[in-house]
Amino acid sequence: MDSLWNLFFVGDKFLGIEWHAWKIIGWFGNVAFFSRFLVQWYATEKQKRVVVPIAFWWLSLAGSLLLLAYAVFYRKDSVFIFAYAFTWIPYIRNLIIHRRAAAGQIPCPGCGLRSPQAANFCSACGTSLRQSEPQG
Ligand SMILES: [Zn+2]
Repeated sequence: MDSLWNLFFVGDKFLGIEWHAWKIIGWFGNVAFFSRFLVQWYATEKQKRVVVPIAFWWLSLAGSLLLLAYAVFYRKDSVFIFAYAFTWIPYIRNLIIHRRAAAGQIPCPGCGLRSPQAANFCSACGTSLRQSEPQG
């Protein structure tokens, strides 16, 4: 049991880190920023083509804002602050562009892929995107 304790605790510090609120905020920022890479990789492997899912931009935005807050209010380090001072701009812009593009598309009832309004069939699964007219 002591060896397990010694694996995670250095002295009285978990992983050798002195934990407090700003450390937790900074680490949440790191986790969000790192996990976007896993989300993008998973989406690409799943669709067998390079894709950037909307979750990638949300995780990028959350991670960069948390790390910016950590840099500004805790570290007060100009290099660290500058590294995250402007990264949120393209993330928000990409979220806006994605929202506008998605608003003009229709979801496939078969697989959920969004297609342009003018499409008659889903390009992924071939399901008809036009609701059948009532017979009468
Ligand atoms: Zn489909």
